[in-house]
Amino acid sequence: MRVHPLPTMQTIHAPRDMQETALRLRREGRRVALVPTMGSLHEAHLSLMRIAREQADVCVVSIFVNPAQFGPGEDFERYPRDLERDAAACREASMDVVFAPSTEAMRMEKARVYVADDTVSHTLEGQFRPGHFRGVLTVVAKLFHLTLPDVAVFGRKDAQQLFLVEKMVRDLNFPVEIVPGPIIREPDGLAMSSRNVYLSEPERRDALCLHRALKAARELYARGQEDARAVKEEMAGIIHNTPAAKLDYAEIVSERTFTPVERLDAQCRAVVAARVGAARLIDNAALSDQEI
Ligand code: AMP
Repeated sequence: MRVHPLPTMQTIHAPRDMQETALRLRREGRRVALVPTMGSLHEAHLSLMRIAREQADVCVVSIFVNPAQFGPGEDFERYPRDLERDAAACREASMDVVFAPSTEAMRMEKARVYVADDTVSHTLEGQFRPGHFRGVLTVVAKLFHLTLPDVAVFGRKDAQQLFLVEKMVRDLNFPVEIVPGPIIREPDGLAMSSRNVYLSEPERRDALCLHRALKAARELYARGQEDARAVKEEMAGIIHNTPAAKLDYAEIVSERTFTPVERLDAQCRAVVAARVGAARLIDNAALSDQEI
């Protein structure tokens, strides 16, 4: 059954209104896609919206800067926010609903029931951002309950997040299909991020070291290197040699478990994180991927 798109894009603020709309859409037999975001939308978010548009009758974009996934001293307060511009971008991308709840209405800081994972939440991003993934998984579960999507689109840029959301969906039987979107980069290779606005011009150039490190990893693998340690050292070296960059980690993980490997194979992903000026940047690439 082909159902017609909703007439005009709606912006919904109250979680209860969102859930009532979602229940009505479900009763009408609509197929709903969710694109969860923290707003400050850029080309990468738009690419996820295009994927959503292909997947569903009704596309919902959530815009919520989730306090529970920021640690003390992180950038929750100054994270860029511009709902008007974001809503215009969603309308332009033929989205049907923007769900933009207030911090208070989502009650993240009051929640004492969480979704916490016990596998890789405390390594890599989780090691540098304690509590981050508990905040992420809890808000994603809430967003799923409020928007009742058939499919949800997540970017590969946040590879560990994507891994954990897929795991949550499997382990807790959420009736949601997770569709990954490819990493979208600036022409020079810098992965798009709302946090790139923190970079000064020279920092912006130094930020390219993450992409350079990933390219080097891929090239070493393509030339037959199988020792993960050698590749990690090469990646770390590239970032250490960039004056403004401070390495958090450069690791090679298995796609299946998101845990570090010793020997490389086609199911491996290189993951890097570094601070450049006031921005903390992450990036990753599958070793077998030709296009990064
Ligand atoms: P954010 O608004 O940064 O929380 O991101 C919302 C969604 O967009 C997440 O699924 C991210 O993985 C995805 N995303 C952000 N930047 C990129 C990018 N450069 N390429 C692909 N997906 C991205």
